[in-house]
Amino acid sequence: MDEKGLEILLSGLEGFSHPKPQLEQWATPGPIAAKMAVLAKGDIEGRTVLDLGAGTGILSVAAALVGARRVVCVEADGSLRGAFGRNAERAGVRETLEFVESDVSAFWGAADVAIMNPPFGAQKAALHADRVFLEKAMDRCESCYSLHLARTRTFISGLAGRRNWNTRVLGTFIYPLPATFAFHKKRRKEEEVDYHKTWK
Ligand code: SAH
Repeated sequence: MDEKGLEILLSGLEGFSHPKPQLEQWATPGPIAAKMAVLAKGDIEGRTVLDLGAGTGILSVAAALVGARRVVCVEADGSLRGAFGRNAERAGVRETLEFVESDVSAFWGAADVAIMNPPFGAQKAALHADRVFLEKAMDRCESCYSLHLARTRTFISGLAGRRNWNTRVLGTFIYPLPATFAFHKKRRKEEEVDYHKTWK
């Protein structure tokens, strides 16, 4: 399947029917998820992949469709299991995905590579959530592909650098946000986000 086909399939999947702002539940738009998976394909093919904060599984499905052997999908909100299962079924990758209901901080499984769109850590209730997610990915994997607010770029490379991990920005996206996600007093509708590769 090429990137356009992936984009169309991912855009048709279920997002969050009742998003919980405190968990920063906002599904990755199909075109961004497709691009993320295609850019990570070389490291994902034939590997065990970890999706931290899997939500309804858009990135997990994308990873499976570019050739992951297995995708472990960690999600704190167990009520998403139904939508996650339907998305996996619709994409024909139910056998490849495993939904694990757990807080990221309590997850101790391992994988080869992580691909994730973690909470941006800007909501009061989820402050620094992005740090917790990236630290966990570095603990449990050899490399990590993840989205972060562009204005946290030096913070992200600093976090990786303290472990002597490398980091590179593979691309920057304009990311649409719902009005409920007030990062600023002036409610922004979109944010610049970086797609980082972080590796040992
Ligand atoms: N990966 C999905 C969802 C991204 S939204 C996608 O790309 O569409 C971020 C997800 O992280 C939400 O589903 C939210 O419920 C989950 N989440 C937030 N904090 C978490 C935590 N501490 N542990 C596990 N999951 C968490």
